[in-house]
Amino acid sequence: MEMLIAGDWAAGSGAIPVLNPFDGSEVDTVPRASGADIDRAVGFAVDGAKRVKAMSGYERSNLLMKAAALMEERLEDLARTITLEEGKIIAEARMEVDRARETIVCSAEEAKRLGSEVVPLDGAPATGNRFGFTLRVPCGVVLAVTPFNFPLNLVCHKIGPAFAAGNSAILKPATDTPLVALKFARLLLDAGIPPEAIQVVTGSGSEIGRQLCADPRIRKISFTGSRDVGEAICRAAGLKKVTMELGSNSPVIVLPDADLEKAANAIVATGYSNAGQVCISAQRILTHEKVYGDLLDCLQPRVSALTTGNPLDESVNVGPMVREDDAVRVEQWIRDAASSGGRLVAGGARDRAVVQPAIVADVRSDMRISCDELFGPAVGFTRFESVDEAIASANDTNYGLSAAVFTENLDNAMRFAREVDSGNIHINWGSQWRADLMPYGGLKESGFGKEGPKYAVEEMTETKMVVMHLP
Ligand code: NDP
Repeated sequence: MEMLIAGDWAAGSGAIPVLNPFDGSEVDTVPRASGADIDRAVGFAVDGAKRVKAMSGYERSNLLMKAAALMEERLEDLARTITLEEGKIIAEARMEVDRARETIVCSAEEAKRLGSEVVPLDGAPATGNRFGFTLRVPCGVVLAVTPFNFPLNLVCHKIGPAFAAGNSAILKPATDTPLVALKFARLLLDAGIPPEAIQVVTGSGSEIGRQLCADPRIRKISFTGSRDVGEAICRAAGLKKVTMELGSNSPVIVLPDADLEKAANAIVATGYSNAGQVCISAQRILTHEKVYGDLLDCLQPRVSALTTGNPLDESVNVGPMVREDDAVRVEQWIRDAASSGGRLVAGGARDRAVVQPAIVADVRSDMRISCDELFGPAVGFTRFESVDEAIASANDTNYGLSAAVFTENLDNAMRFAREVDSGNIHINWGSQWRADLMPYGGLKESGFGKEGPKYAVEEMTETKMVVMHLP
C-alpha cells in the first residue's frame, strides 16, 4: 500500500515488507518516508489545521459518524487485515474493529461538546465590572504515533478525538502493522473527511521519529508504545503538549476470600488474549498463601486447554506473537525464571513466533518475568501473607497502568483502590478491561495524560481566557 501525504497516495523511496507473523509470508509492502516527505506532510498539515478548525463541530461530528458506518460495512476486511499483519486471532480482530467503530462514534459525540466556562471573576478582589470566560481551541497539528498491538483501535483513539477537536493529524503507525491504519485513512477520505485532516507516513520510528517529533510546527504529540521510546519522544519533542500511554507489568492480587473460579477465568481472559501483547495484560499474580495452591490447580487446566496456531483458524485461542524475536525473548524469560527458583506449571514451549500459554509459579520480584514488562502469553505467581505485603508488592514497580484485586471484602477492595498506584483499578476482574469511553492512562512510568474520546479531546485542545473589561 502507499502512504497518504498531502492528499495523495505516495510511494516514497524504498519498500518495507509487512510480514504475516504466523508463517512469515509477505502480506504487502509500505513506503519508507524520506525527510522531504515528512517536511511536505507537516507543511500540508499546518494549512490543514486551518481548514479543520473552520469546520463546525456539527460538520465534524457528521463526518465521523459516516466513517463509523463505513467501518461497520468493512468490518471483515479490516479484521482480516489486523489478523494478517498483527497475528491476533480473527475473533479478537473483529472485536477490535467493533471497538474502534465505537471509539469513532464517541469522538463524533465529543465534536459537539467543545464547550467553555464562565469564570466568576467577581470572586476575586477589586475586579470591578468584568466578565470572564474560557474558549477551547484546537492545538493545530497533532502527531499520533501508535504501536503494533491494537493497530486500528489505538489509531482511532488518536485520530477520532484529534478531528473531533478541530485539529489536523499526522499518523505514524507501527512498522509491523501499518496496513489497517492505511485502510482506515482511505475510509476516512471515503467518508468525506478532507485530506487536509489526515495524513499517514510510514517508515521506521528510529529513522523518521526524531524529525517528526522535533518539528516545531507540530503542537501536540499523542504516543502509545513502550516506555523507552516514550522517553525518547519526550526528549525530542521539546516544548510541546504530549500524551504518553506506555507499558506495564500489571498485578492481580488474589485474597483468601476470593471466588477462585472467577479469578481463574479472569486470569485466562486477561493474561493471554492477543498472545499477552496488551499493555494491561495480567502479568504478576500475587496470591495469598492460603489459596495459592488451589488457584494454581484451578488455573492450570484452563491455560493448558488454550489452543495455539493460525490466527485465521476460528478454533484457535492464541495466535503468534508479532515477531519471532519477541517470542524468543518471552521463551527465554520463562526459562530464566524456571531455572532460578521458579516452577513451570504450564506451557512455555515455542514454535517460531508461537509461545504456548505459560504459568510460572514461585516467581520472585527480581525475576524479569516479574519486574519488566513481559508482553507475552505467560503469568507469574508470587505468594504473600498479608494485605500490606500484597499492596507493597503491587506497588513495587516503576509502572502503574492497571491493577486488579479479587476479594469479597469491601474494606479490602477500597483500601486496594486507594493505595495501589495505578491509573486503572479493577475489583473482581483481571487487569485487562477497558470501555473505550472511560478515562484511560497510567501513573508513574506508565505515562501521563488520558485517552477515551472525552479526555483525549481535552488533551488535544487548549484553553484561552477571555476577560471583557466593561464600562
Ligand atoms: P514501540 O515503543 O516499539 O513503538 C511504538 C511506536 O513508536 C511505533 O510506531 C514505532 O515505530 C514508534 N517509534 C519507535 N522509535 C521511535 C522514535 N525514536 N521516535 C518516534 N517514534 C518511534 O512499541 P510497540 O509497537 O512494540 O508496542 C508495544 C508497547 O506499547 C508496549 O510497551 C505496550 O505496553 C505499549 N502499549 C501501551 C498502551 C497504553 O495504552 N498504555 C496500549 C498499547 C501498547 P516502528 O514500529 O517503526 O519502530
